[in-house]
Amino acid sequence: MVGLGKYEKLPVKEILLEENAELSALTAEILNRVKGSSVKVRRIKEDREGRRVKGLDSKTSLYLTPFPGALLKPCPGTKAYICCGYQILHLGTNCPMDCAYCILQAYFDRPRPTVFTNIWERLREVAQILDAQPARVFRLGTGEFMDSLALDPLVGWSRTLMPFVSSRKNTILEFKTKTDRIEGLLSSDSRDRIVVSWSLNSPDIVASEERGTSGLRKRLESARRCQEEGFVVGFHLDPIIRHEDWRDQYARTIEMLDKFVRPDRIIWISMGCLRYVPQLKSIIRKRHPKSGVVDGEFIRGLDGKMRYFRPLRAEMYAHLAGTLGEWSKDLGLYLCMESHEVWLESLGWSPMDSAGLSAYLDERVAKLFG
Ligand code: SF4
Repeated sequence: MVGLGKYEKLPVKEILLEENAELSALTAEILNRVKGSSVKVRRIKEDREGRRVKGLDSKTSLYLTPFPGALLKPCPGTKAYICCGYQILHLGTNCPMDCAYCILQAYFDRPRPTVFTNIWERLREVAQILDAQPARVFRLGTGEFMDSLALDPLVGWSRTLMPFVSSRKNTILEFKTKTDRIEGLLSSDSRDRIVVSWSLNSPDIVASEERGTSGLRKRLESARRCQEEGFVVGFHLDPIIRHEDWRDQYARTIEMLDKFVRPDRIIWISMGCLRYVPQLKSIIRKRHPKSGVVDGEFIRGLDGKMRYFRPLRAEMYAHLAGTLGEWSKDLGLYLCMESHEVWLESLGWSPMDSAGLSAYLDERVAKLFG
């Protein structure tokens, strides 16, 4: 049995096991790992008919259920903005942390972390898709609808997914996190085609708006450790939030980057200003009454999401790109879901469209992994 180790300190107190999840290999692995620990296991009937089941609204209860939909799907970008062509490997939803701005609060009616239990049985469906197009570069990520590593010591995604991806020359897998839960990565022999990336923000935003996450120093110490162990790393300055002293605040984050990591083993750094679906505002006011993220003025973008005014976004991107550029000129900087015009105003060049951005990121893959 693999012990939980440091995982005991994470805030999952119980496992809610849906009856249909019982038979899967992943469920057996997870239950084996919590055996003898303080984590309680409760068997429940599925809640799809809307019945309220105690614990299902809690961040400390992990819900295990099979997933009937597609495991691999394109990131839900929008034609109105330039998107990166990322593919989501859909392994679960939510996470045990609680960022005030988390868009998942509006996407899913319950905040509980959920892990899909039938993924190992269905990985061959993903393999068929990847292997059918050997000339295409698949950039996969698991961090769109959950944190990729927060539950990895318990679930063990990395142990199976890393060799699965490393053996395929047309695929990379990005683990995106706000934690220091890298023990599963480090215990694997696979390094090729694996990107470990951290979402970063200013020290004040991390402290006030990212409840339950690892601090900046811990994230960057983990990044340094991963680089030392031969991993390629990435970073996401997202969501960039206009707050008091934001220039100095983000400069401090970039100074820490410089202190902890080597720029030549960074595959990319994305930047994205805060954006949210309109219904998220009232959820934030209710769930995070002290949060300041939705204070100020926003406009509705072409995709229906609320954003800062275009000149403010361009100003922030240009400022951060300038500061990062003093550190290194070769960071694979890109903007997440912005227009051609904002690219030009902020970075002085544009990939023109989503195909152009995909090609640019594919080149970064070729440069770092060959
Ligand atoms: S870490 Fe990501 S998934 Fe988890 S609460 Fe924060 S934004 Fe949401």
